[in-house]
Amino acid sequence: MSMTDTNDPRLRCFLLIEPESHFPVQNLPFGVFRPRGGAPRVGVAIGEYVLDLTVVERAGLLDAPSLAGRSESVFDRSALNAFMTSGRAVWREVRERLSLLLRHDEPRLRDDAALRREALVPMRDVEMLLPVEIGDYTDFYSSRDHATYVGAMFRGPENALMPNWLHLPVAYHGRASSIVVSGTDLKRPCGQTKPDKAPGPSFGPSRSVDFELEMGLFVGPGNALGEPIPIDQAVDHMFGLVLVNDWSARDVQKWEYVPLGPFLAKSFGTSISPWVVTLEALESFRVAGPTQDPKPLAYLRNPVNAAYDIRLDVFLQPAECSEPARICSSNARHLYWSFDQQVAHHTSNGCNLCTGDLLATGTISGPTPESRGCLLELTTGGRNPMTLPNGQSRTFLEDGDRVTMTGWCQGNGYRIGFGEVTGKLLPATSPAHE
Ligand code: CA
Repeated sequence: MSMTDTNDPRLRCFLLIEPESHFPVQNLPFGVFRPRGGAPRVGVAIGEYVLDLTVVERAGLLDAPSLAGRSESVFDRSALNAFMTSGRAVWREVRERLSLLLRHDEPRLRDDAALRREALVPMRDVEMLLPVEIGDYTDFYSSRDHATYVGAMFRGPENALMPNWLHLPVAYHGRASSIVVSGTDLKRPCGQTKPDKAPGPSFGPSRSVDFELEMGLFVGPGNALGEPIPIDQAVDHMFGLVLVNDWSARDVQKWEYVPLGPFLAKSFGTSISPWVVTLEALESFRVAGPTQDPKPLAYLRNPVNAAYDIRLDVFLQPAECSEPARICSSNARHLYWSFDQQVAHHTSNGCNLCTGDLLATGTISGPTPESRGCLLELTTGGRNPMTLPNGQSRTFLEDGDRVTMTGWCQGNGYRIGFGEVTGKLLPATSPAHE
């Protein structure tokens, strides 16, 4: 095997890593963690451990020439931005160094007991933090099944897809300030709603809080204002992916979204998984996406397979239940518009993407009933309640419900996983105003 093939299925770590682990030596996702009594810093997930990059860097084991000569470490920081801005060549080099350092036949860390104790921190002993300082957040709407199904519910089957949908990846500008890391609980939002038959709107806690199963792309270097990123260079600006739960208040959304799109129905909270899985780690799971017909305009034509075969599951756990129930199984390969196309389109007018910007995909639904990525679809807008294993039924989320999303790629004997994004819906704190 090649010294630098970090994706080789035969690679083994000196740590025992189960085949179902999300974090084998082929993955090496980056995150920001706080060890007990310590300051936040950058780490990499490996099996049940976090590898502290500040420790291996100080020990001289991260001797990446591209990082040499910098006065400040890009890892002794509370966000990944400094590393993300350094570009694909640096990401690759660091990945190769880490892959080598963790291999079963590499003694430098394996045989240094003191260094291992300092550098490999059990995951259960750390707090995972928001990995990136996120300046801007854009949410696309790139699953055809989701757009068709939801569009049919809101506007009837003949107007399900708007005329522009098959020609461009539509999106709205989201709110970066309310993006939270997995494990953060959110309050049921209050908002203005107007039921169809009500004479006017009222203000109070949303009655139809939903989740949306999405993935998010973190932008690496980004582009200068006025200089679009051509689609064949988009990958150089794509640092990695996370799981995203775009919590949504459907009753607020329904009343507010025309004509300018979602606003307060979305901005009360968006949850992301803490480990950023790099595009390098996902390279073996690149597949052809859905056939695009009509053919997109030239600036959106992908030269390569640009979808990813990532299994995605959603679990719902009511407050009084000890076990979560799986309520959705989907796959990122269903996305009609790829990440490359989103980046090319976003910058096609000269808009500058910046390091740390988050581009989310929109709800990832597939063609089958169990692959619908939100309750709005799973319960047909609340008209067909779903029954949970404990006998309870749900149309939308109830107070105390925990939503957990997981995702992984299945390799030959190993998984490239994203861990999870989880969060609980807490009761609204404001009194209801009817
Ligand atoms: Ca969304």
